[in-house]
Amino acid sequence: MTLTTRFAPSPTGYLHVGGARTALYSWLYAKKNGGDFILRIEDTDLERSTQASVDAIMDGMKWLNLDWTHGPYFQTQRFDRYKEVIEQLLASGHAYRCYCTSDEVEAMREEARAKGEKEKYNGYWRDRTDYPENKPYVIRFKNPLEGNVVINDMVKGEIVISNEELDDLIIARSDGTPTYNLTVVVDDWDMKVTHVVRGDDHISNTPKQINILKALGADIPQYAHIPMILGDDGKRLSKRHGAVSVMQYRDDGYLPEALLNYLVRLGWSHGDQEIFSREEMIELFDLKDCNRAPSGFNTDKLIWVNQHYMKTLAPDYVAKHLAWHMNDQNINTENGPTLSDVVKVQADRVKTLKEMAQISRYFYEDFDQFDEKAAKKHLRPVAKAPLELVKSKLSALADWSSDTIHAVINDTATELEVGMGKVGMPLRVAVTGAGNSPSLDVTLALMAKDKVLARIDMALAFIAEREAQA
Ligand code: GLU
Repeated sequence: MTLTTRFAPSPTGYLHVGGARTALYSWLYAKKNGGDFILRIEDTDLERSTQASVDAIMDGMKWLNLDWTHGPYFQTQRFDRYKEVIEQLLASGHAYRCYCTSDEVEAMREEARAKGEKEKYNGYWRDRTDYPENKPYVIRFKNPLEGNVVINDMVKGEIVISNEELDDLIIARSDGTPTYNLTVVVDDWDMKVTHVVRGDDHISNTPKQINILKALGADIPQYAHIPMILGDDGKRLSKRHGAVSVMQYRDDGYLPEALLNYLVRLGWSHGDQEIFSREEMIELFDLKDCNRAPSGFNTDKLIWVNQHYMKTLAPDYVAKHLAWHMNDQNINTENGPTLSDVVKVQADRVKTLKEMAQISRYFYEDFDQFDEKAAKKHLRPVAKAPLELVKSKLSALADWSSDTIHAVINDTATELEVGMGKVGMPLRVAVTGAGNSPSLDVTLALMAKDKVLARIDMALAFIAEREAQA
C-alpha cells in the first residue's frame, strides 16, 4: 500500500503560514517515504468558499514548490458519494434520523448543564422509528455508547477518549448536505490516506472520525496533530501579529527556500542544525521528531534564514526572484547590470529582496535629487577637486573594470594628498545618489561609463549651485 498524506485546506482565505507548515510536513513525510501527497479542497462551506481563495492557496503551494501527486480534489464535486455513504450508514444502523428542533437540542444541553453533566444531544431519536411526516430532520451518527477511542498520535503520543464524552454528531444537515466530519472521513477513506497530518485544532474531531471509519469498516489512518504557531504574545498567530499569508512573505521579499526552511524548523528539529536544503529536509524529517508544544513565530530568525539563502543560493536563481520585486517596484532593468550581478554585490547588505530592489534602483534609473543628508555632508565645495580629477581619470579609462576603477580612485587620493574617503564618499553620493552602496569600484564597474560621468557632472553642478548660494 502506498503511503499517502494529504493537505485539506478550506478555501476561505489565503494560504496561512500555519497551513503552509502543515502542508510542508505532510508533503515531506510523503516524499521521504516515496508516497503520494494529495491536495484536497474542502469547499463544502458554500458561503465562505471562494475561487479566489482556491487560487491563492494553489499559488502559495506552487510558490513554495510543494507539488501534489493527486488532485486538487474538490469536495463539492463529491456530494453524490457522500450521500451514498450516508445511506450506507443509515442502512447498516450506524446512523439515524433526528427530528429534534434546534430549540429542543438546546434544551437538552441546558438540562445536562444543570445536572453538571457533559452537554450533549441525549439520543432521543437514536432508537425510535415513529417518524413524523413532512418534518425536517438531520442525520446523526450512532456513536458507540461505551468503550474508548485510542489515538496513537505520531506527535502527541497516546490519547484516550471515552465514548461517553462524545455526541451522536450530525453527519447530514436538514437540507441533506454532509457535514465536515463526514466528508473528511469519506475522502480519507476513498483516497486511501494512510497518514493524516493536520493542526491540533482538529484533535477533538479525530475520535468522531475514527468511530465513523470503524462503522464503515475502513482502515484507520495514522494521525499526526501539529501544534499551533503562536505570535509573540503567546496567542495563536493571526493578522494582528503581522504577515500570515504565504504570498505576503513573497511580497515582503522572502525567498521560498527561506520560508520553507524557517517553517520546517518551527516545530521540528534535527539536533541543532538550522539550515536544511529541500533534499536534506526530505531525508531527515520525521513526524515523530515534531515538537509537542506550540512554537512562537520569530521574524528575526526568518530574516536570518532569508539572508543565508540570498547569499548562498546561485545568484542566477536569486535573480529570478529579484526580478519579480524589480517589476513590483516598477524598475525597468533592461539597461544596466544583470540582476545576477546585482545579487552578488547586494546580497549581504539587505534583509529581503524587496529591500534589495529598493536599494538597487540607481543601477537602472537616473535620479534628479541626491539624498539630502548625504549631499549635505559630502557634496561640498571641498569635493569639487576630487570629483573633477576622478572624473577626468575615469573618462580616460579604456578598460572599464573594478580593478582599473579602484586604481583611479587611489591615484586621485594620492595625487590630491587626501584620504580615500575624501574621494570615495563624494563619488559614491554622486553616482548612487546616497551614502550607502557596495564597494565603489565594483558598483561603478557594473554601470555604464557615460552614466557614471554624467552623474559626476550632476554632482558638480549641485556643488556649484551650493557655492553660488553661499
Ligand atoms: N479543512 C480543514 C481545515 O482547513 C482541515 C481538515 C483536515 O485536515 O482534516 O481546517
